[in-house]
Amino acid sequence: MTELAYLSDGAAGYVRTFRARVTALPPGGVVLDRTYFYPVGGGQPADQGSLRLADGTSWAVSDVTRSGAAVVHRIGRPKGGASLTVGSEIEGELDWARRHRHMRLHTAQHLVSARVFARTGLRTRRATMAGTGATIDLEAGWPEGLAIPDLEADVGSFLGPGRPVAIRHVSRVEFEKFPSARSGLVALAPQVDPVRIIEIDEADACPCGGTHVRNTAEIGPIALRRPTPLPGGESRLSLTVSELAPPTPAA
Ligand SMILES: [Zn+2]
Repeated sequence: MTELAYLSDGAAGYVRTFRARVTALPPGGVVLDRTYFYPVGGGQPADQGSLRLADGTSWAVSDVTRSGAAVVHRIGRPKGGASLTVGSEIEGELDWARRHRHMRLHTAQHLVSARVFARTGLRTRRATMAGTGATIDLEAGWPEGLAIPDLEADVGSFLGPGRPVAIRHVSRVEFEKFPSARSGLVALAPQVDPVRIIEIDEADACPCGGTHVRNTAEIGPIALRRPTPLPGGESRLSLTVSELAPPTPAA
C-alpha cells in the first residue's frame, strides 16, 4: 500500500521533493511506502520526475499509475551504478513545471464547471487535461443564450482579485445532504468516506482527488472556446491556460 501524501492538505500539493522507502519492484516499476507523485486518473495526467539514491544514481519517472492500493512509478534505465532493492531509501523529485501546470488547469476546470452550472444549470460529466488545455464535457447542448465572451469575463472575475482554494474532508452523510448544489455528475464510489472537497471561495465545492492551486490568482488568464456538440446530445467546452513559470515556494 502506498500513502498518497499529496492528498492531505493544500500545502502537500506544493511538495516537490520527498524521501520514501521502496516497498516493491514490479517489472519496470517502483512502489514506495509514500509518494507525492500524482498517478494518472480523474482526467489529470500522471506526474513525471525522478527517483534518486544517496550515491547519486537516478531513474527518470515517465509515468505513474494506481495498482490496487499501490502506486507504481514507471522508471527507465539508471544513471549511475547502483541498483534499487526493497528497503532502499530514495529521494523523489517531481517535474514541478508539469505538475504546477496541471494544478492550474485542474483548478481552472473546477471554476469553469462551476460558472457554467451557475449560469446555465448544465453539469459536467467528465473533464480531461493535457498540456495547457482542458476539455469539459457537459450533460447537454450549449444554450444559445450564453455568449462565450460573457462566460469568459464571468470566469475572469474570479481570477483577478484571487479566491482562496481550500481542501476540506467531510463525512459521506454530510456530503450527500446537498446533491443539487453540485456542478459535477461523476458518481463517487460507495466506499468513499470521508469525502475530499475542493472549495473555491464563493464559487464551488466539489469532490476531487486531484491536485489544485491554493488561490485562483495563480491560474493566470483562462481562454474559452465555443463548445462543440458531442454524440448523445452532450457538448464539449475547451479551455486553455497560458504558459507561466511555476512559483518556487519552500512548501
Ligand atoms: Zn479537482
